[in-house]
Amino acid sequence: GQGQSNYDLSFKILLIGDSAVGKSSLLVSFISNVVDDLAPTIGVDFKIKFLTVGGKRLKLTIWDTAGQERFRTLTSSYYRGAQGIILVYDVTRRDTFTNLSDVWAKELELYSTDENCIKMLVGNKVDIGSDQVVSREEGLALAKELGCLFLECSAKTRLNVEQCFEELTQKARKYI
Ligand code: GDP
Repeated sequence: GQGQSNYDLSFKILLIGDSAVGKSSLLVSFISNVVDDLAPTIGVDFKIKFLTVGGKRLKLTIWDTAGQERFRTLTSSYYRGAQGIILVYDVTRRDTFTNLSDVWAKELELYSTDENCIKMLVGNKVDIGSDQVVSREEGLALAKELGCLFLECSAKTRLNVEQCFEELTQKARKYI
């Protein structure tokens, strides 16, 4: 097949947010195009995906916290050099939403000093429609406050999963 080592641009993208919001599932869903096994995932460090956008071959290196967020041990090195950051909450758990502004946004301020870094707020698990407690409007308002793009997604049904990574990459491309 075609060599995977040839690319025009390289991006580092991070996933952050509380434990169990679906960060690893979003990554696996995006990379593999199938989601047959949605078990809790631990130990994923990063995955690589190649995308062709506007005739350019892009290499995305997408980092997952691999469960480290539980111990609050993410450090500045995790954030260093990121061109895109995806902030994930679970639309069925309000605490994961409030923690984005109370905990994660503060950590971003501290460690992610690159003003050209593009951020995307993601409300995941919208497939569990009846249990949605954080509304789309609230999501949009927080995104505006934090200066993020915004999408509601489902790692399970793959709703907006590709859009999420593609929109982020498209926007970040301007700065590379
Ligand atoms: P992480 O700790 O943020 O990486 O979260 P995981 O990816 O391990 O997911 C935590 C749990 O939520 C797992 O049981 C997943 O199967 C489930 N999950 C993740 N994304 C979705 C989704 O979009 N819809 C539903 N219904 N469940 C999901």
